[in-house]
Amino acid sequence: MRRPMIAGNWKMFKDKDGVKAFAKELCSKVKDVSDRDILVCPPAVYLESLSRAFSGTKIKTGAQNIFWEDEGAYTGEISGSMAKDAGADYTLIGHSERRQYFHETDETVNKRLIAALKHGLIPVVCVGERLEERQDKRTFDVIGTQIRQGLKGITDAQAVSIIFAYEPVWAIGTGKTATPDIAQEVHAYIRGTIQGVLGKDRAEGMRILYGGSVKPGNVDDLMCQPDIDGALVGGASLEASSFGKIIRFRG
Ligand code: PEP
Repeated sequence: MRRPMIAGNWKMFKDKDGVKAFAKELCSKVKDVSDRDILVCPPAVYLESLSRAFSGTKIKTGAQNIFWEDEGAYTGEISGSMAKDAGADYTLIGHSERRQYFHETDETVNKRLIAALKHGLIPVVCVGERLEERQDKRTFDVIGTQIRQGLKGITDAQAVSIIFAYEPVWAIGTGKTATPDIAQEVHAYIRGTIQGVLGKDRAEGMRILYGGSVKPGNVDDLMCQPDIDGALVGGASLEASSFGKIIRFRG
């Protein structure tokens, strides 16, 4: 049985007061929730204060990205150990905005994934096709490559904590959610691909989140699908009221 997870990605939003207010409100909204994992990934500068605000609760924090080196002259980057120091237990890897605007490739995703595992961070590895790739019927090809390259050199034992997130690029921030059937079809493909790389047991145990315009109104139908184990939420994670409702999905 895979434990559901609802994760929020704040991207480059919020300020100090907003972080404080959100933490207080979310803690009170979900204090009785214990049968699912809850994660919030704020901008790196707020990781420490948000982690502190969540201490003593079951809500975890994650970085939105980490660099693969431990330290060095890499202006603007943060390492896995720095994210850990700031209180993160998780990190996103390979979000489509990183791939699109910051030239992230499957090779750099793989390096970041290895670094996350090395530093004891739980990686949430994002994969997904662009609209033109779906229209060209290349969805499975693209995602298969992203998974195989992303997992290159990772052993079955190392992979135990990895989480995948299927995020069709055409559904991110657009208000267009993949239908539950479309999402399920790709999630089943992702699980099958992971099975090909790491074996059946690891594939069966691995959590695969769906991301792309998840809202309180569509989360229940998505979570009813057999291979959807949770949600990675962007816009609707910015308000504790909508994020709290998503966390309380009924699937
Ligand atoms: C995301 O940023 O990962 C995301 C899924 O965004 P949104 O929910 O806004 O589509």
